[in-house]
Amino acid sequence: MKFYSTRDKSLRSNLSDAILEGLAPDGGLFMPESFSKIDSDNFASFPETAFEGAKQLVDGAIEESQLKSICDDAFDFEVPLVELSPNTYILELFHGPTLAFKDFGARFMARMVAALKTDSSKLTTVIVATSGDTGGAVANGFYNVPGIEVVLLYPKGKVSPLQEKQLTTLGGNITAVEVEGTFDDCQNMVKKSFADSEIRNNLNLTAANSINIARLIPQMLYFMHSVHKLGKKDLVFSIPSGNFGNLTAGVFAKRLGLPVKKFLAATNINDAVPQYLQSGDFKPKPSVRTISNAMDVGAASNFERLMDIYDQSLEKIKKDLAGFSFTDEQTQTRMKKLYDETGYVIDPHGAVGLLASDNWLKENPGDTVVLLGTAHPSKFIEVVESTLGFTPKIPKQLADLQDKKKVVSPCGNEFEEFKNILLKK
Ligand SMILES: *Cc1c(COP(=O)(O)O)cnc(C)c1O
Repeated sequence: MKFYSTRDKSLRSNLSDAILEGLAPDGGLFMPESFSKIDSDNFASFPETAFEGAKQLVDGAIEESQLKSICDDAFDFEVPLVELSPNTYILELFHGPTLAFKDFGARFMARMVAALKTDSSKLTTVIVATSGDTGGAVANGFYNVPGIEVVLLYPKGKVSPLQEKQLTTLGGNITAVEVEGTFDDCQNMVKKSFADSEIRNNLNLTAANSINIARLIPQMLYFMHSVHKLGKKDLVFSIPSGNFGNLTAGVFAKRLGLPVKKFLAATNINDAVPQYLQSGDFKPKPSVRTISNAMDVGAASNFERLMDIYDQSLEKIKKDLAGFSFTDEQTQTRMKKLYDETGYVIDPHGAVGLLASDNWLKENPGDTVVLLGTAHPSKFIEVVESTLGFTPKIPKQLADLQDKKKVVSPCGNEFEEFKNILLKK
């Protein structure tokens, strides 16, 4: 299997280069050049389904037995499907070590990078800028993986206290850099590092955000798992979205033959994609802060992949996607209503997806919607407290972090300073 660039389709890379380089040489995103058809009758437990699905795109880049053990090892946690109402289910993707769906992508990518490295004596440096959830999942996924060093940058004072603990307490091969600046400043430092010849000459760099195809492959798998669990075809998926990695992965699964009726693109007021689906104009805007902050993205990076797969055609994309966006007030009202009616505590991102599901079912009452539960409510403890009036139960993974000690490399807002940290000068 080769992967082409969304910008220049004549550029082709194999999976190893696509994963180890992250971005295509022309700045485009990597796309699989073909989709063979999966057989959904082979789906079973999550790791078994994962192997069946992943093998379509991995396509021999590593041995099948090795891929099988990567799937078994990376996805060693529960993926429950919980009924919220007769036509609505939530697929809880937040039972991994950092309690967000990003564990799927990060844990799979870490193992693939280790497996694909040809020169094991050479250190690979993974850099990632994070506004919260990604950094924790990447740090955890790559922790103690031999031959890998992780440098993660986060904006000082702008991640939640629990998220900061997830980023800064592991030590070992993980270095957390606390930047005096915003998330965008962190992201810029990452981009400059890739463009800096001195850094490139000294380090083997790769990027671990959702532009990396290694994060999308495992995210296809839970769409397949839902079809297996429910034993129903033509499901509708509601997807709380920011950078649209999950939704793009769902579209990949559909291309692989998974019977999906519709994808609901559910956003907070950072609604450039739902707006596009209405008007045909894609107008990225600076992001606005909301209570579902992991979706505060102004310019969704995977939109370029969606446009590519639907031939830049609004008409084609609308056949598969419907867009919805909601305010914080609507989100909190829905969290409260669900809790009052069922006792289920949903996080604010999930509530945005639930609102989209409600709207869809009003028009299409016979459909079955699977909502992707992207994070555990205890990750957004302040919002849950102010909305529901009590503190959600904190799972062991997070509770254990409270007593751990934060270790960071402080960094001003100058690229040179970050560069010195990276080159250990
Ligand atoms: C990252 C994240 C999202 C957005 O996912 P995308 O794949 O970027 O659209 C939604 N919810 C939570 C909790 C997240 O951490």
